Amino acid sequence: MKSVAIIGAGITGLTAAFYLKRQGVPVTVFESGSRAGGVIQSIRKDGFLAEFGPNTILETSPKIAQLIRDAGLESRKLATDPKAEARYVVRYGRPIEMPAKPLGFITTPLFTAKAKLAVLREPFIKPRRDGVEESIGQFVVRRFNQEFLDHAIDALVAGIYAGDPDKLSLPHAFPKLKALEDNYGSMIKGQIFGARDRKKSGEVAKDRAAKFSFDEGLQVLPDTLAAQLGDSLKLNTPVTKLTQTANGWRVIAASGEAEFGAVIYCGTAYKLAELVIEAVKKISNSTFSEISYPPVGAVVLGFRREDVTHPACGFGMLIPKIEGFKILGTIFSSALFPNRAPAGHITLTSYIGGARYPELGLLPEKDLIGATLADLRVLLGVKGQPVFAHTKTWPKAIPQYNIGYGKYRDLLKELEAQNSNLVFAGHYRDGVSLGDSIVSGANIAERVKQLL
Ligand SMILES: Cc1cc2nc3c(=O)[nH]c(=O)nc-3n(C[C@H](O)[C@H](O)[C@H](O)COP(=O)(O)OP(=O)(O)OC[C@H]3O[C@@H](n4cnc5c(N)ncnc54)[C@H](O)[C@@H]3O)c2cc1C
Repeated sequence: MKSVAIIGAGITGLTAAFYLKRQGVPVTVFESGSRAGGVIQSIRKDGFLAEFGPNTILETSPKIAQLIRDAGLESRKLATDPKAEARYVVRYGRPIEMPAKPLGFITTPLFTAKAKLAVLREPFIKPRRDGVEESIGQFVVRRFNQEFLDHAIDALVAGIYAGDPDKLSLPHAFPKLKALEDNYGSMIKGQIFGARDRKKSGEVAKDRAAKFSFDEGLQVLPDTLAAQLGDSLKLNTPVTKLTQTANGWRVIAASGEAEFGAVIYCGTAYKLAELVIEAVKKISNSTFSEISYPPVGAVVLGFRREDVTHPACGFGMLIPKIEGFKILGTIFSSALFPNRAPAGHITLTSYIGGARYPELGLLPEKDLIGATLADLRVLLGVKGQPVFAHTKTWPKAIPQYNIGYGKYRDLLKELEAQNSNLVFAGHYRDGVSLGDSIVSGANIAERVKQLL
């Protein structure tokens, strides 16, 4: 059996490696960093559990639950506390609970009567069929109104991409929303009538999907997958060059070189731009450096319960730019899962920077904490000082699927078509959520098995 090289030990590469190995395919995973997991990083300290990258997995596909079962992690899986369903959006300088039911939407102070009317009108707005690629911002203003964009969607976009709604592409960043308009003529009609179709396919809408983590945080998943790889996982081993051979690819890494039947690239787009690919048919991969990955600072603060006035019981709060705060949003981490804070304490995880304020994402730790605390004092009535404060800067956090992103996806397809047995998977191609990356890794393993 030919062996497979996997570049990148984030969740995509680890999932692909796990499934190939289970099917008897020999794999080697090359990771430039000193640990497995990519942007997943959980640390336990002083009784607090800090997540610096993702906080939860959304179970949008049956393949996600399947991986957890296959990895033997069901007993360590933690569903979010059902009491912590409330989501807040900041308006008028304070967090307001988002309505969960239609009746709540009518009475919520989150939107004016004008925005509420715009929602009621949406099913009657003609779908756009001229093929022009819109931003999510243009789409929302066209189908709802500016207020709905400024006070709701802008905050949601910050929560998913740390992105700019006027730049993010509707078909690339929000393909499911585009499909609702294409297939049902309206988002609201699609939400109602699409439920049956989603049930048939086993897919679950993001707003209804179950969310989960593990007893010791999300890091449990990459650690478990990495442990099963044993010596086949090569840490501190960046791959710098790939050379096509008669039978596959020669992989040139820091530690030496070896030949493989196939290569799966599961790294980042900006590192793909630096990879030297020597192939019979030359296609430039330097274009991938154009993809924007704005910096994000993750700020995890622990407080004595009595020092936070707001109950902070819920998923968290999202903050639209128009409200003038520095943080993009805060997850009420210790309300979501048990064991995230010692008794009598709470953990709040905030994000700062992104496409909205890239320069803030790169602030030194002291300033990240200072800016976050200043906002939390106003928004959640935080008093006193945190008893736990840790930050992590992601200089390149999440790729922005901005207008024109199709060019990069087309180039990946072209690279695959021109170079047999070199394939691409992960967050820069198949969607930016953790769940998307798991599905991407599982799918690429199936595809590569067929190639060998
Ligand atoms: C701050 C933050 C918060 C997030 N929150 C959530 C959330 O709550 N829920 C959610 O669903 N998603 C969230 N996401 C997104 C999600 O975590 C990621 O999209 C997903 O984990 C990406 O996995 P990946 O394996 O594709 O890439 P990565 O995790 O980026 O892994 C790629 C790996 O490839 C390695 N690599 C790159 N080039 C080379 C090379 N040449 N040689 C060897 N190794 C190489 C890198 O070192 C890295 O370890 C968040 C992301 C960030 C940054």
